Amino acid sequence: MKTSLAALLASALIAAPAFAQAPEAAPAPAPAPAPAAPRAPPPPMTITKIKPNLYFIVGGGGNSELLTTKSGALLVDTKNLNDKDYGDLMMLIGSVTDKKVRVVIDTHHHADHTGNNEKFLAAGAKVIGQETMPKILEKYTTRLAPHTPFAPTTLYRRRLPVRIYHSKVQLYHFGGGHTGADTIVYFPQERAIAFGDLLVEDPTVPNYDAGNGGGSLLGFQDSLAQALKLNWDVAFPGHGGKPLSKAEVREYKGKIDQLISRIQALIAAGTPKDKLIESLKTDDLGWKIGGQFWAPPERVDALYAELSKK
Ligand SMILES: [Zn+2]
Ligand SMILES: [Zn+2]
Repeated sequence: MKTSLAALLASALIAAPAFAQAPEAAPAPAPAPAPAAPRAPPPPMTITKIKPNLYFIVGGGGNSELLTTKSGALLVDTKNLNDKDYGDLMMLIGSVTDKKVRVVIDTHHHADHTGNNEKFLAAGAKVIGQETMPKILEKYTTRLAPHTPFAPTTLYRRRLPVRIYHSKVQLYHFGGGHTGADTIVYFPQERAIAFGDLLVEDPTVPNYDAGNGGGSLLGFQDSLAQALKLNWDVAFPGHGGKPLSKAEVREYKGKIDQLISRIQALIAAGTPKDKLIESLKTDDLGWKIGGQFWAPPERVDALYAELSKK
C-alpha cells in the first residue's frame, strides 16, 4: 500500500510546477554546485507515523503534522496552494484515517504553510491561528501562490487549548519570532511539539520575516527557550525530513544564541550596517547567513536596530 502510493505520487510529481516545493521563508539553496543538468523533480510527499495517532507529512511546502482521533483529525499547516499538493496531502491523510480533518492549525502566515486553508474551510474545518495573522495576510504578497492564502477564522492571543475527541493540544504564541504570528503546537499526551519555521533543518537556514511579518531574532530565541521548557521528546521542524530530539533542538537553540551574540559583538565593535552580514562568521554553525532572507538592506536595518538595544 505504502509503496504503490509512493510510486503513484512519484510519477505524478514529474508534472508538478517548479515552484511547488519552494519553501516560502527559506533561503534559496546554497549556490554552490549548479551543474547544467536538469533539476531533479522534488521528492514525493510522504507520511510517517511518529507516535500513536501522530504523523509527520513532508513535502509540498512546509511540513505538516496530523493527529488522528476516532471523531476526526487535526492538521498542522496546509502546504502550498495548488491542486497537486492538496491532492497528495488528502491522499496521504486518507491512507491513515477515514475521518475528516476537523481542525487545522496554522503555525504562521507564509504560503507554504497556509496555502490550502481555503479548501479546509470550504470543507467545514475550523482553521486556527494567532490573532495577528489576518492583519499580516492583508499586506502579504507572494510569488508562491496565485493569491493571498485565506486567513484563519478562529484566533487566539497567547495560549489556546484545543480539544478533539479525547486528545488535547496546546497552542502557544511566545511572541514574534520567525513571523509576528507564530504558533507552536504542543501535543502533551504524545510528548511532541511542532515548531513551524522556528525550527528548520539543513539545507534550510533559520530566518525570520522582520518586515510585514513582524518577526524578531530575539523573539525567535525566546520562543525556542520557552518551548524547551515543555515536556516533549520529539520536535517537528517546518522544513527538513526528520523529527528532532530535545537534545538536537537544544543544540540548535545554542547556535541561535551564538548567532545573536556574534551580531551583537559586531555591532558593539562599530561594524557598519553594510558590512554586518559579510563580517558574520557562521560556517562553524553550518549556516550560510545571507541571501534574500538576511542581506537586503531593510532586513539588516531591522536586525541592527533590534540587536543594538542593550
Ligand atoms: Zn515561514
Ligand atoms: Zn516554511
